[in-house]
Amino acid sequence: MKSEEIKYKITIKSFFGHLHTVNKHRFKVFKLCCKAGIPWQGLVHDLSKYSLTEFLEGAKYYTGGYSPIQNRKKNVGYSEAWLHHKGRNKHHYEYWFDNGAPLKTPIIPFKYFVEMICDTLAAGLTYQGNKWTKDYQLAYWTKTSKTRIINPKMEVLVTKVYEEIAESGIDKVLRKEHLRKLYDKYTN
Ligand SMILES: [Zn+2]
Repeated sequence: MKSEEIKYKITIKSFFGHLHTVNKHRFKVFKLCCKAGIPWQGLVHDLSKYSLTEFLEGAKYYTGGYSPIQNRKKNVGYSEAWLHHKGRNKHHYEYWFDNGAPLKTPIIPFKYFVEMICDTLAAGLTYQGNKWTKDYQLAYWTKTSKTRIINPKMEVLVTKVYEEIAESGIDKVLRKEHLRKLYDKYTN
């Protein structure tokens, strides 16, 4: 484990590489959030990625391809950047999980639910590039369902959104009134 860890260090290239990844992701999320009618959420999305805790780890474990958080987890067993990130960003369902609360997995408020959809779509679009298809997000969401601790109603709601995207594409589904209708229907 130790010897493997040595190959990760911050260089000029990894510093600016990571900075570029963060900026690019935020811009993509911003565009999707505008489409979805929550521009402010899009503008402030993932700002904690510029904090030292998140940024320096990201730059150190940057490899150009896969997520630096996953690299760090593989190396050390956990990621401080991720723990910092999910503790501050309400668009992650992990933020809402509290094992010690009567409601371990509450319903996520509407604006964060929409931001979460935009975030995951942006990530999928980036990772898949021109291989992206409109059913990608549904497949990914289904494949990763076992690792998820989320409110069961939210699980059904998000699945429904991805099913609709798989059927009719992002532009048709990512509209505020439509998402609001689905949200009200599935969370009540
Ligand atoms: Zn985030």
